[in-house]
Amino acid sequence: MKKKILIIGGGLSGIYLGYLLKKEGFSIKLLEANDRIGGRIYTKNSHTTNVELGATWLWRYNPALLKVCNDLNISLFEQNMDGDALFEALKSSTPQHFQVPKNQEISYRIVGGTFEILNKLKATFTEDQIELNQKVLKIDEEETTLKVTTKTSTFIVDFVISTIPPQVLVNTVHFSWDLDSDFKQIANNTHTWMKDSIKFALVYKTPFWKEKGLSGTGFSNVGPFTEMYDHSDFENTHFALMGFLNGGLANETKEYREEKIQEQLFKFFGEDGKKYLSYEEKVWNEDQLVNFKDDSFITPHFNNGHVIYQQEFLNGKLIIAGSETSPKYGGYMEGAIYRGNQVLEQLKSSFQ
Ligand SMILES: Cc1cc2nc3c(=O)[nH]c(=O)nc-3n(C[C@H](O)[C@H](O)[C@H](O)COP(=O)(O)OP(=O)(O)OC[C@H]3O[C@@H](n4cnc5c(N)ncnc54)[C@H](O)[C@@H]3O)c2cc1C
Repeated sequence: MKKKILIIGGGLSGIYLGYLLKKEGFSIKLLEANDRIGGRIYTKNSHTTNVELGATWLWRYNPALLKVCNDLNISLFEQNMDGDALFEALKSSTPQHFQVPKNQEISYRIVGGTFEILNKLKATFTEDQIELNQKVLKIDEEETTLKVTTKTSTFIVDFVISTIPPQVLVNTVHFSWDLDSDFKQIANNTHTWMKDSIKFALVYKTPFWKEKGLSGTGFSNVGPFTEMYDHSDFENTHFALMGFLNGGLANETKEYREEKIQEQLFKFFGEDGKKYLSYEEKVWNEDQLVNFKDDSFITPHFNNGHVIYQQEFLNGKLIIAGSETSPKYGGYMEGAIYRGNQVLEQLKSSFQ
C-alpha cells in the first residue's frame, strides 16, 4: 500500500478513483491539465444560480452512481416536466403544444448542481494530492517504475492510471515505448460522449413559462436549439432554461449563436423569452482536453468499454480507466463510477 499511484485527469473518474484508493490506504497524486477539476462535469455559477454546462442527469438504472450519492449524502430531485412541452417542426410554423408521455424514464438532478459530487469527493483530499495546470505530456517506462512528465514537473511512481478519454490519450500523450497497435487503433476509434455538443443556459428572474402552463421543455427540428428543459433549482428560488444547440453552430461566434437563440426564444415564448439575466454556453468541440479533433466520424459510444481496456499494460503498471473504458454505461457518469470500482478491485487483487 506504500506504492505510489499517479492518476491522470481530474474528471469524475479521476477524483472518484483518488477517493477510493485513498480510503484503501494507497498513496496517490492526481494531475489535472485544466485550471479546474471536473472535466465534463461543469457546473457554472451564473447570476447567483448554478447551471450545468456539462453532465446534468442521472437515472434509476445508475446503481453505482446512486450508491455514491447516497454514501455522500447527496440529494436528488426530479427533472421538472410539469406542463406542456413545445415542438417546432418547421421554420414557417409556430411551435406546437404537446404532453410528454407519463411513462418516460424519470431523469434526476443533483441538489446544488452536479459538481456537488466532486465537492464531496474532493473534500477528502489534502491540498498536495491534486495539482491543477499539470498537463501530462509524456510517460516513460523505467526499470520498475514509471516516469510522468508535465511542462514543469517530473513524477516517479509505481502505477499510473489514465482517466483521459482514450482518443485524447493516444493522440496527446507521448509514450517512451511503442503502444500495442490494436490498442492504439481501438483507442483512436473510441467515441468520447458529448465531445461535439454545445450546451447553453439562460437565467431568468421569473419562471414565466410555468405561468403560461409550460414545462420549459422544447424540441426543435429547426434550431439553433434542438432540445431545452426547465433548469430551475431544487428550492425553486432561481429560474433557468438549459439545453443543447445544433452542433453545426460550433464554428460561429458566441454573439451569432446568442442572437439566433433570441430569435427562437421569441418564437417559443414571445418577449418574455428574450428577457433573460444571463446567457452561458460551452462549445465542447473546442475543448482539446476532452475532444481530439479529427475528420473521421465515430458512431456514438463506439468501442466504449472495449475488452482491450481491461488488459494489463506494462505488467499492470499502467491502467487505462475513464468513463469510455467502462463495460457498463460507458460515456456516462455511471460508467466513470463503475470503472473506478473495477480498477480498485484490480489493484487490490494485485497486492494479495
Ligand atoms: C455536454 C455534456 C452533457 C453530459 N450529460 C450527461 C448526463 O446528463 N448524464 C451523464 O451521466 N453523463 C453526461 N455526460 C457525460 C459525463 O460528463 C462523463 O461521462 C463524465 O463526466 C466523464 O468523466 P471522466 O472523468 O471519465 O472524463 P472527463 O470528464 O473527460 O475527465 C478527463 C479529465 O482529464 C483531463 N485531461 C485531459 N488530458 C490531460 C492530460 N494530458 N494531463 C492531465 N489531465 C488531462 C481533462 O481536463 C479532464 O478533466 C455529459 C457530458 C457532456 C460534455
